[in-house]
Amino acid sequence: MAEAAAVPNARIPELFSRQRANRAAVKRSTASQRVAKLERLRDAILAREQQICAALYADFRKAATEVEISEILPCLVELRDAIKHVHKWMRPARVATPMTLAGTHSAIHYEPRGVVLIIGPWNYPFQLVIAPLVAAIAAGNCVIIKPSELTAHTSKLLVELIGAVFAEDEVAVVEGDHVETQQLLALPFDHFFFTGSTRVGRIVAEAAARHLASSTLELGGKSPAVVDDSADLPSTARRIAWGKFVNSGQTCIAPDYVLVSEGREQALVEALRAAIAQLYGDSEADRRGSPDLCRIINARNFDRLKKMLDDTVSQGARVELGGGTDAQERYIAPTILTGVRPDAPVMAEEIFGPILPILTYKSLDEVAPFITARDKPLALYVFGEDEARIDAVIAGTTAGGTCVNNTLLHFANHNLPFGGVGPSGSGNYHGMFGFKAFSHERAVLRQGRVDLLNQLYPPYTRKVSKMLGWVRRLFT
Ligand code: NAD
Repeated sequence: MAEAAAVPNARIPELFSRQRANRAAVKRSTASQRVAKLERLRDAILAREQQICAALYADFRKAATEVEISEILPCLVELRDAIKHVHKWMRPARVATPMTLAGTHSAIHYEPRGVVLIIGPWNYPFQLVIAPLVAAIAAGNCVIIKPSELTAHTSKLLVELIGAVFAEDEVAVVEGDHVETQQLLALPFDHFFFTGSTRVGRIVAEAAARHLASSTLELGGKSPAVVDDSADLPSTARRIAWGKFVNSGQTCIAPDYVLVSEGREQALVEALRAAIAQLYGDSEADRRGSPDLCRIINARNFDRLKKMLDDTVSQGARVELGGGTDAQERYIAPTILTGVRPDAPVMAEEIFGPILPILTYKSLDEVAPFITARDKPLALYVFGEDEARIDAVIAGTTAGGTCVNNTLLHFANHNLPFGGVGPSGSGNYHGMFGFKAFSHERAVLRQGRVDLLNQLYPPYTRKVSKMLGWVRRLFT
């Protein structure tokens, strides 16, 4: 069976060639034509909202309202922004002319990259394909999309949705697993846009390097939440619990673990208990029955999380809340752990599930060295009322993005670039940043009628040396 699956998919090179043949025409599309495409995409999404919710429910029992909030709404926001601004974004951006180049004028032209590949993950399988697609279309590219094979219902829906809006020589969906992805990665795309794990991100980066193509890598990692002593615990706990347990912790920017001072640990645990009760129910049974907690995507991830939890507890961590699991339903209860050692299994990799370890510090000064000793995170959260202490944490660390006194929300502002740093990713998108990610910034300088620089042409006589001295005195 494995050999049969490895047979090359003949449609892939054929699609790629057709898009290549079409890329010059799509490049020439006007802003109004791109707006019309984006409007057709928006209308097609609006007409299928129920199917989108049904697909995500079938894939991992995600609640319809959570699909509306976290999958459909962000796409509509990106679409609105691009529809409103693509005229402006496409306009060449004039830049200043240094005095040494008097007589010329310069501008940056935003050219589409050409034919681009968008590879999606399973955890937000609709949004994390459609949002980059919006940017790629606004920038005038042809696009092949490879959705995750783990969310088969959403993948099928994307095939139908994209097929209804676009001709295949402009935007097409290729379904499949790593075999199809490897086949796609062997083709000389003009840009690779990947959202997924750091492990596969490396494979994509290697492929892009082989083609000397550009890439955007939206990866993962362990995103810490730092709670300063000046933080208001009830609101902090509520916002951490929301950011952690939405999508059952399967969010790239979910707070992965919490750092709190020793003296406030128990108070934070109590506040988190109350917050989780408010969000998902008072008892373990209520929470298990909550329609708002989705399930773990598959058995492999369920087993990984259960082993991580069991091993961490057997090494001395305390379960303050939750801890229960059900393999058949792929359910893991919202879980809080204390007494977690920095070398515990739960701290060795991105958790990507509803388990929240709490670690303690004696002084806030320990926090930045603790975080910077590990991989650069995708997100870093700081809670507190003391601005100087918050700024000290921000200044002492690095992260793809940061949210102060809340979680996840920096992702939702399309005026901010969204992306990682180092092992959590490179490049960014959302709003205008997405348009730029899918564009080549072409430098264009035009020589005007007045040409002063020709005074410096050979032959290099004494007159040229004098001119040069004069230019240096005046302009450097
Ligand atoms: P993944 O890396 O396993 O899969 C992502 C995509 O890569 C899928 O389409 C898959 O088919 C393909 N793929 C898998 N193995 C491959 C291989 N060997 N060669 C080529 N392609 C392969 O990631 P995932 O499990 O779908 O998503 C979870 C990860 O994604 C987490 O680490 C999470 O933090 C990260 N993530 C990041 C963001 C972000 O915006 N930065 C968003 C969501 C998820």
